[in-house]
Amino acid sequence: MDYEAFFEQELERLRAEGRYRIFADLERQAGNFPHALRRDDAAEGREVTVWCSNDYLGMGQHPKVLAAMQEALAKHGAGAGGTRNISGTNHDHILLEAELADLHCKEAALLFTSGYVANWTALGTLGARLPNCVVLSDEMNHASMIEGIRHSRADKRIFRHNDPADLERQLAALPGDCAKLVAFESVYSMDGDIAPIAKICEAAERHGAFTYLDEVHAVGMYGPRGGGVAERDGLMGRIDLVQGTLGKAYGLVGGYIAGSARMVDFVRSHGSGFIFTTALPPAIAAGARTSVRHLKDSQAEREAQQAAVARVRERLTAAGLPVMPSESHIVPLLVGDAALCKAASDALLQDHDIYVQPINYPTVPRGTERLRLTPTPLHSTDDIEQLVQALNDVWARLEIRKAA
Ligand SMILES: *Cc1c(COP(=O)(O)O)cnc(C)c1O
Repeated sequence: MDYEAFFEQELERLRAEGRYRIFADLERQAGNFPHALRRDDAAEGREVTVWCSNDYLGMGQHPKVLAAMQEALAKHGAGAGGTRNISGTNHDHILLEAELADLHCKEAALLFTSGYVANWTALGTLGARLPNCVVLSDEMNHASMIEGIRHSRADKRIFRHNDPADLERQLAALPGDCAKLVAFESVYSMDGDIAPIAKICEAAERHGAFTYLDEVHAVGMYGPRGGGVAERDGLMGRIDLVQGTLGKAYGLVGGYIAGSARMVDFVRSHGSGFIFTTALPPAIAAGARTSVRHLKDSQAEREAQQAAVARVRERLTAAGLPVMPSESHIVPLLVGDAALCKAASDALLQDHDIYVQPINYPTVPRGTERLRLTPTPLHSTDDIEQLVQALNDVWARLEIRKAA
């Protein structure tokens, strides 16, 4: 077999389909977010404004977070020194887990190296080990949940997106004695829509199902302490397992689950993706704990983010640009064609120093290709005006459809 020829042919196929991924080579600058240096061509870099970061609140450069990390690095050194089981459990992990359990008003929490690994491991473990488990999964769930469910080999049913009535029908058709796990997200990050959590919980409760909620795009940003949409809506007590990330609004890296002490202990004891991997560095855990604590007390970041979101939405709408409806901090702008979407993103970067990654199939359905904007508290009024002008220019030049 000519392995190199195989790889080349497959890559060529991706390019031909317009699905070949090109990463922008950025150099983030602490203190200058959402501006960054783009290293792609100019040796010294060009300053760009980033409009698609998941560092939603700019916590990745927060002075308190950086100080906590520097202190932990000086005190404890670089790495954790092992897996959690074999010498890698550092006191910073214990403190962070307690902080996260408290954030979600749960008995316990468990850290993972990423949100992806948290979903993969928790769903893989629960789906495989709960007796005769059937997993009911929202059709728009994230790849990490889909892969975890697949890995569990549990029986899987897909319910229509954010549709509690369809979930109810499917739950009612299952035998009473099997374990049932309902897996869904609060904020869906491509459309920015929010799940009807109360109605989904009602359906789950009527049929004795376990509720598994991914709040990755909500923690830090919703609820008076950043506990997510379930906190905002007073529903935390009805969620059996909440999963989150430290990599988005909290600005670092890492994932977690929170829930009952027994459930968390069970996943800790059986989860291969927890057991057989090196623990997060203590400095990451210390920085994350500082970030979580800060956002439990401070409303300033959340309020400024919501204000920036409202302003961007209002200015884009006034300009006749096709803003897609969204109930969250995510502002999707419809392009509707993969090649045009890529061309729009390229033109914004080349001609306007604005970086927004194109979102194409398979991340979103064909025909709904889009630019996905994530305004942060640190985007200034000037940044927003520059964005609107640039989009107007690109929309006109590429003759992209405006709002209906
Ligand atoms: C990003 C994401 C994850 C994975 O979290 P990471 O910490 O980035 O690995 C999980 N679920 C959803 C819905 C996500 O968007």
